[in-house]
Amino acid sequence: RLPGAEAERGTIVTTPTSARMEEACQDLVLSQAQIQEVFSSLLAQINLGLGRVTNQRATVKCFPTYVKELPNGHERGRFLALDLGGTNFRVLLIELDDGDFKMESRIFAVPHHIMTGSGKDLFDHIAECLSTFAHAQHIEHEVLPLGFTFSFPCSQHGLTEARLAQWTKGFSCSGVEGEDVVKLLEEAIQRRNDVQIKVCAVLNDTTGTLMSCAWKKHDTYVGLIIGTGTNACYVERLENVELWDGSWEEPKQVIVNTEWGAFGSKGELDHVLTEYDREIDQHSINPGRQVFEKMISGMYMGELVRLVLQRLTKKGLLFGGLGSEELAEKGSFYTKYVTEVESDAPGDYTNCRMVLEELGLDNATDEDCENVRYVCELTVLSSDVARAAFLVGTGLAVLLNKMNRPSVTVGVDGSVYRYHPHVHRLMCEQINQLINPGIQFELMLSEDGSGRGAALVAAVASRTNS
Ligand code: BGC
Ligand code: MG
Repeated sequence: RLPGAEAERGTIVTTPTSARMEEACQDLVLSQAQIQEVFSSLLAQINLGLGRVTNQRATVKCFPTYVKELPNGHERGRFLALDLGGTNFRVLLIELDDGDFKMESRIFAVPHHIMTGSGKDLFDHIAECLSTFAHAQHIEHEVLPLGFTFSFPCSQHGLTEARLAQWTKGFSCSGVEGEDVVKLLEEAIQRRNDVQIKVCAVLNDTTGTLMSCAWKKHDTYVGLIIGTGTNACYVERLENVELWDGSWEEPKQVIVNTEWGAFGSKGELDHVLTEYDREIDQHSINPGRQVFEKMISGMYMGELVRLVLQRLTKKGLLFGGLGSEELAEKGSFYTKYVTEVESDAPGDYTNCRMVLEELGLDNATDEDCENVRYVCELTVLSSDVARAAFLVGTGLAVLLNKMNRPSVTVGVDGSVYRYHPHVHRLMCEQINQLINPGIQFELMLSEDGSGRGAALVAAVASRTNS
């Protein structure tokens, strides 16, 4: 199958094969007025989040990260990094050498029972993976500085302390919310007592992504993730960060982790929600929360498409009104299917048929394929329509206008951005519709932000402290 990134970044190629089909999909279409409304209410929530008195009631919390300095490209040293927050857990050994960089890493699965079990088991698992890795690399007797990429909303009061506000994505381990995850990690490592660590920084994946791009492109001021979840961070002037309780020394700026995935949890997005969004939310492990994220990110995208396909089938508009057992099953339409379907060349349905066959839909007609593709395109992107890509583009425009810097590189990572053939272009189109005249921007794929970014935060921190 064609990897999405290599597919042509063309325009929408699909048209629904009937007016009824188009009509039945209308609720997924965002109007300009709705986009404007999303833009202003997201901006309003970010401002509430930054305010000392208003933060409490804000849905977008804008956590200060305590990362004030960006890399200058000359960082050096050997670092360990841990990356927890998506589908996998990774341990990395990174060597930075004045613009050069070497990395060893290993991926460990986080089994479902650990993601939803006790916090103690989670951190014991992390410590065990770290120990396995350290022994394999023969570094178990060294005390290397460690950066911990922990990609969940945390309130911080320094670079090495992060209290989990709330689990998101598929995690729900008990006894972690409200606790300092650095402490939990250190305790688990002490329980084993076969490796030593020195945690220098705990960070979000958006921060890692920003830092990792800033290492090469010095005008990087935004980090964005569209993967399992979605979130963005940006560089804000200290005077605007009313919750700031760190030092006022230069530079008077700090990376703010917006946690925009939580936008909508007080009804701010009700005007754009469809029945599918509501159903996804109701069946999720965190109903009512992360509403913006559920409209955008990879963890929910496939299921969103499945719900649309299912309703269209019930209406007799697809698969002769018949469907299949697989199609009726929650979670059966993987997010990667969306990318695969959209990577077919126009008029060719090779990937689409493979996907449908995996779903037990062997007798799909060309018309069915065209319509399935239409639904995928509509859900994820679209020309004057828009969902995921347009919503994220709108969010980025909010940040770019708010910073109002003449030229900004946005570091981006995450499977949806990386593999979806049209997301990049659609986001750019949407941003261009909304940004202030005179602002130039570029979206740049960030290579391994969670790993290299963690090392850079640790390196910059030790530079500042020495
Ligand atoms: C988390 C963020 C994270 C994002 C992308 C969200 O669910 O709350 O902290 O940055 O996912 O991984
Ligand atoms: Mg990640």
